[in-house]
Amino acid sequence: MVEDLVIIGSGPAGYTAAIYAGRAQLKPVVFEGFSAGGIPGGQLMTTTEVENYPGFAEGVQGPKLMQQMRQQALRWGARLITDDVIAVDFTQYPFLIASADLLEVKARAVIICTGATAKRLHLPGEEKFWNNGISACAICDGANPLFANADIAVVGGGDSAVEEALYLTKYASKVHLLVRSDRLRASKTMQERIFNHSQFHIHWHSLPISVDGDEVLRSVQIRDTQTGGVADLTVSGLFYAIGHTPNTQLFQDQLELDEAGYIKTQGKSTATNIPGIWAAGDVQDHVYRQAITAAGTGCMAALEAERWLSERQLSPADGTPTLVSFAA
Ligand SMILES: Cc1cc2nc3c(=O)[nH]c(=O)nc-3n(C[C@H](O)[C@H](O)[C@H](O)COP(=O)(O)OP(=O)(O)OC[C@H]3O[C@@H](n4cnc5c(N)ncnc54)[C@H](O)[C@@H]3O)c2cc1C
Repeated sequence: MVEDLVIIGSGPAGYTAAIYAGRAQLKPVVFEGFSAGGIPGGQLMTTTEVENYPGFAEGVQGPKLMQQMRQQALRWGARLITDDVIAVDFTQYPFLIASADLLEVKARAVIICTGATAKRLHLPGEEKFWNNGISACAICDGANPLFANADIAVVGGGDSAVEEALYLTKYASKVHLLVRSDRLRASKTMQERIFNHSQFHIHWHSLPISVDGDEVLRSVQIRDTQTGGVADLTVSGLFYAIGHTPNTQLFQDQLELDEAGYIKTQGKSTATNIPGIWAAGDVQDHVYRQAITAAGTGCMAALEAERWLSERQLSPADGTPTLVSFAA
């Protein structure tokens, strides 16, 4: 039995792809995941209020939003399997997908939506204050009243750390940038923007080592990486801007990835370098990383897959599609 479409991942990208593919009568099989690269429902399952997803004027809880997307996918005939994909073979056609529970599925088309994982520091106290002062997304959480006119800290020294820190100056009165070494990795232009900014305080040679508070975060303990001295910094927020890891280990030898490990997609489409395989959401996006952009690309991938399948009327006898090159 060969499936028309298998979707790997169940965040906003995966469920949106499933809704569109379901409505196109492709009866998609969705591997929702279990523990690899997050949990079923994806990153929004780990947050509370989502205030920027259109359609929810008063905001919506992350898990509630994902539950609604899941229900909508089921309503349109998606077949959901709560299991991790542990191996794929994209060198054979139909493609082969194997799961941890030893399920093997052959598919004419595949959409990869395995997302990315925000890197954490795993500080003592971090779990308690996650979503109660600690965040990995300034755009998502910056407007939280917790941070209004407060002192907050951002950890990181690259372009995205500086960008997130600049964004947070809209809300916070002061932004403390905690930098491990004596220099920033961010571009010169970005650096100039914060060096001349009155709301910034850069702490060089500074490493957060623990967090403290009551119901919410109140302070971060920082170690000076040169002297070993430890000091308390009173802040209401701590933002991690130390990067994301795309969940692409499975695809490393199978698909073209960029230098950071994200799946490369072609131009304005979600097509990968293998015809018949698309990638949507954070697994191919290190720029926007939002639920709405993930859902948007999930929609694109499903429409592209549906068009591709119906144009070709592919069957196993049609053989392996030819690889395309990004250089072309
Ligand atoms: C704490 C937090 C708060 C956020 N708040 C907001 C917000 O307010 N607004 C906003 O727009 N964005 C927010 N974001 C960002 C948003 O969650 C992501 O951009 C979005 O979830 C990306 O969707 P996705 O579908 O690409 O991937 P993800 O949501 O990362 O989902 C990936 C899915 O793939 C599955 N998976 C991974 N590996 C495998 C495998 N091997 N086999 C099977 N399944 C697998 C996982 O189980 C998961 O279901 C937040 C992120 C975090 C971490």
